[in-house]
Amino acid sequence: MPGYKIVDHTYDVVIVGAGGAGLRATLGMGAAGFKTACVTKVFPTRSHTVAAQGGIGAALGNMAEDSWQWHMYDTVKGSDWLGDQDAIEYMCREAIPAVYELEHFGVPFSRTKEGKIYQRPFGGHMRNYGEAPVQRACAAADRTGHAILHALYQQSLKHNCEFFVEYVALDLIMDADGSCRGIVAWNLEDGTLHRFRAHRVVLATGGYGRAYFSCTSAHTCTGDGHGMVARAGLPLQDMEFVQFHPTGVYGSGCLITEGARGEGGYLTNSAGERFMERYAPNAKDLASRDVVSRAMTMEIREGRGIGPERDHIELHLEHLGVETLESRLPGITETARIFAGVDVTREPIPVLPTAHYNMGGIPTNLHGEVLRPTADDPDAVVPGLMAIGEAACVSVHGANRLGTNSLLDIVVFGRAAALRAAETLHPGAAHRPLPKDGGERAIARLDRLRHADGRLRTADIRLAMQKTMQGDAAVFRTSKSLEDGVRKMGEIAGSLAEIRLSDRSMIWNSDLVEALELENLMDCALATITSAEAREESRGAHAHEDHPQRDDANWMKHTLAWVDSGRVRLDYRPVHTYTLTSDVEYITPRKRVY
Ligand SMILES: Cc1cc2nc3c(=O)[nH]c(=O)nc-3n(C[C@H](O)[C@H](O)[C@H](O)COP(=O)(O)OP(=O)(O)OC[C@H]3O[C@@H](n4cnc5c(N)ncnc54)[C@H](O)[C@@H]3O)c2cc1C
Repeated sequence: MPGYKIVDHTYDVVIVGAGGAGLRATLGMGAAGFKTACVTKVFPTRSHTVAAQGGIGAALGNMAEDSWQWHMYDTVKGSDWLGDQDAIEYMCREAIPAVYELEHFGVPFSRTKEGKIYQRPFGGHMRNYGEAPVQRACAAADRTGHAILHALYQQSLKHNCEFFVEYVALDLIMDADGSCRGIVAWNLEDGTLHRFRAHRVVLATGGYGRAYFSCTSAHTCTGDGHGMVARAGLPLQDMEFVQFHPTGVYGSGCLITEGARGEGGYLTNSAGERFMERYAPNAKDLASRDVVSRAMTMEIREGRGIGPERDHIELHLEHLGVETLESRLPGITETARIFAGVDVTREPIPVLPTAHYNMGGIPTNLHGEVLRPTADDPDAVVPGLMAIGEAACVSVHGANRLGTNSLLDIVVFGRAAALRAAETLHPGAAHRPLPKDGGERAIARLDRLRHADGRLRTADIRLAMQKTMQGDAAVFRTSKSLEDGVRKMGEIAGSLAEIRLSDRSMIWNSDLVEALELENLMDCALATITSAEAREESRGAHAHEDHPQRDDANWMKHTLAWVDSGRVRLDYRPVHTYTLTSDVEYITPRKRVY
């Protein structure tokens, strides 16, 4: 490519992303002796993992009896039986050593009086197969993600891993034989292009919350890994399942952790009624997130919302007392003051269900290997390519993730990816020559956008996408909203052809980064709404008003969505209805009540 300086690098392993998933994989790869690079568009400790508040789930049994089998049951039930039970078994069993490992890495967990790791109640965490709530969320006050991310970053510095900070990965380098051979990245500091050759590329790029207008996730959560995979001709899985967190601060979308309800907080409607008692008589305010979000939306739709527009709900913490608020919920006390102008010791917080987590993503097996399902082999893998964390769909969360299971997912599967690489690759193995398209397509894409001279601004196209997703593919979905949404999203994706970049200089061009991110978000949005329109049932986070029941006979299957130039093709693959070991039996589908 004329005019571009390309710097070549060769590694055993390249990890894209330095959130909890990327860092756990990076340190595991380094410890296994691999020459490892970690490429990240923001400084590692600014990754969205830093914002996780509530905790990480593990059946340590520090507060009362608990077992990983109960944790597994809750996760399967939470997933509304769409999760793969072999992967769920692996995660829940590994949770216990994973939390002790984090403790030894230096995570300053909150403590009980006896000095054990403190655990708080959380939505959907129950004892004895759904009987009554149990305290399973291991927490470092309400800054658990912050503590974990910093500990993992420090640990990864111990091994000789190299960090490429503020490098935006553009695309995968794929070989004609279908294997992944590396990535192309763009250095924001000086505008140089970098080609990383590697035996394993691990995508740990996080979720795509920014496809929605109101979300709890960082501005960096733009589904870049999803976009790269789609452009490589690979499918995305279960993208219709988007979790709405019940308690985003009304207006700003900032998160108030479920740990606030875990500590005894509760929701009320305009009549001052604790309405969750009607919807979930046992778990009440601690029912699964989709259940609480739907109940709140029902209250608002039936005219019992709060405020002049009757459009939100209130979360009460006043009764908890200053001491609990200061020791257990200091961060959200501050968030409520700054973003809602509320003193939580005296008044309730105005809240609203807000887009929070993507259950779907890049399909992988429980070793983090990316799948390219075929008719003959629904579990076939793509050589050289792995995905972990929120970017991936293993699938342990199925149709709905339980709170605290994502911090768990990122450390368990970040580690699993490193273990798999150590099993299948030797440090320092020889590299084959790069394929013919050694990144030309990635550079051509950057070049096209850089010179884009249409009539629409990046921000305007993005806003149209976000409003459509919020209006037509949020908590409640109908055949009409989804059909309209698919049509509108098709038009909006088409309008990308008319994008115009305000400043076309290569360096310091944040608009160019945002345009690249928008293309990735668009693929995610298209896959999400098209997959949702096709799924004629209600399951977990996908609540379809015209098909209110779960339909296991027809729909207990994973959606696969291939996105190509604004068009989406769908297919399906079976859910794993078996466990990993004979220690537990497959949990047969039943009605999901809390
Ligand atoms: C406000 C909030 C609170 C939460 N609380 C909890 C909780 O209490 N418990 C729980 O279990 N879960 C919680 N979650 C969910 C959980 O925090 C996330 O799912 C998880 O941290 C995601 O980690 P990750 O490593 O996959 O991605 P992230 O932490 O989002 O990291 C993504 C990384 O990818 C990099 N990246 C992305 N694109 C590119 C690119 N093109 N080039 C280079 N680098 C790139 C970024 O720089 C970043 O380093 C919460 C989420 C939010 C938003």
